Amino acid sequence: MTDYSDDPLAGAGLDTLAVRAGIARTHEGEHSEPIFATSSYVFGSAAEAAARFGGEESGNVYSRYTNPTVRTFEQRIAALEGGEDAVGTASGMAAILSTAMALLKAGDHVVCSRDVFGTTTNLFGKYLAKFGIETSFVPLLDGAAWEAAIRPETAMLFMETPSNPLCEVADLAFFSDLAKTNDCLLVVDNCFCTPALQKPIAMGADIVVHSATKYLDGQGRCVGGAVVGRREHMAEVETFLRTCGPTMSAFNAWVFLKGLETLRIRMQAHSDAALSLARWLREQPEVERVYYAGLEDHPGHALAKRQQSAFGGVLSFEVKGAREQAWQCIDGTRFLSLTANLGDAKTTIVHPATTTHGRLTDEQRGLAGIGQNLIRISVGLEDVEDIKADLRRGFDAIG
Ligand SMILES: *Cc1c(COP(=O)(O)O)cnc(C)c1O
Repeated sequence: MTDYSDDPLAGAGLDTLAVRAGIARTHEGEHSEPIFATSSYVFGSAAEAAARFGGEESGNVYSRYTNPTVRTFEQRIAALEGGEDAVGTASGMAAILSTAMALLKAGDHVVCSRDVFGTTTNLFGKYLAKFGIETSFVPLLDGAAWEAAIRPETAMLFMETPSNPLCEVADLAFFSDLAKTNDCLLVVDNCFCTPALQKPIAMGADIVVHSATKYLDGQGRCVGGAVVGRREHMAEVETFLRTCGPTMSAFNAWVFLKGLETLRIRMQAHSDAALSLARWLREQPEVERVYYAGLEDHPGHALAKRQQSAFGGVLSFEVKGAREQAWQCIDGTRFLSLTANLGDAKTTIVHPATTTHGRLTDEQRGLAGIGQNLIRISVGLEDVEDIKADLRRGFDAIG
């Protein structure tokens, strides 16, 4: 259907928005988005300065408040996620912190998935707790535990799906109903899928947070984050950022804009390679078990198929044996990058039990299902046959 509205991108598809949303071309006629490397802005007159400071007139004042390159990134990620507005932040953790600081207050209670990024657990469990915001941690898939944890003062449900590193898949429709019934906000960290594969807001989430450091950049260059949601919430988050300062830099925003242009084709390539690798891993005699929602026998397969357009680039597997065998496998690979980062063009390999999940107690790790023989892979964009060959070197190194 032809759209005759003024916005040339009205009704545009994800790939078009990823390339074009948010562009505000300057008088120079530049084709690529410019980097506004400026901390402040000049005013045309003392009256204009007064009006901007007083908030009677919109416009740039200072780059802790607004920056045109960051604004382009914000508009683009909002368009991709299907949110009304977005706020760029200095990191993924700054996105989560800003959301919490802007929308929660002392006395509020949060229910958070136990299976979230480890630093997120510390942010809620340690720092927000200091300011009188209590958090209950519950297993991602245990809907009854979520219901039981909710109190009258519960103001936010927080989760990641699929989870890291076991790729558990949460039913976003269920959680959005739960949030609405209990008058609290559903916040989803959409880092692993990105809007190219999953749109939590369309499924009823109130807010999406991102670590742009991962797939939005996609090439491991910059640290950044984003919060996406309704205008009234984003206004609160933006006010927090202006006051407290964890803003995104213009240069980083520009790198993320370039990353977004290729987001969907990268996510499809990561997903295709991860599925191929997961199937291959399952056939290897040294492998005990593979965790990837793209495999038909993964418990989250049917749900992931419903709410995601592909299964993503992260998988994990257990080698037969214990920590020693896992470490031998990791150390036996030759080009996979041994790093805890993910969402990069370069494939990364890591031993969660002694790195990303190393601060948990044995008991906590046991509950979360993270064994000493578990290895996580963030599948990159190399030839997948070469990734398999390198992992074969790893398996051959197991003594
Ligand atoms: C990395 C990550 C974060 C934190 O993002 P930073 O950019 O490192 O601050 C939050 N959530 C998830 C799921 C992540 O992988």
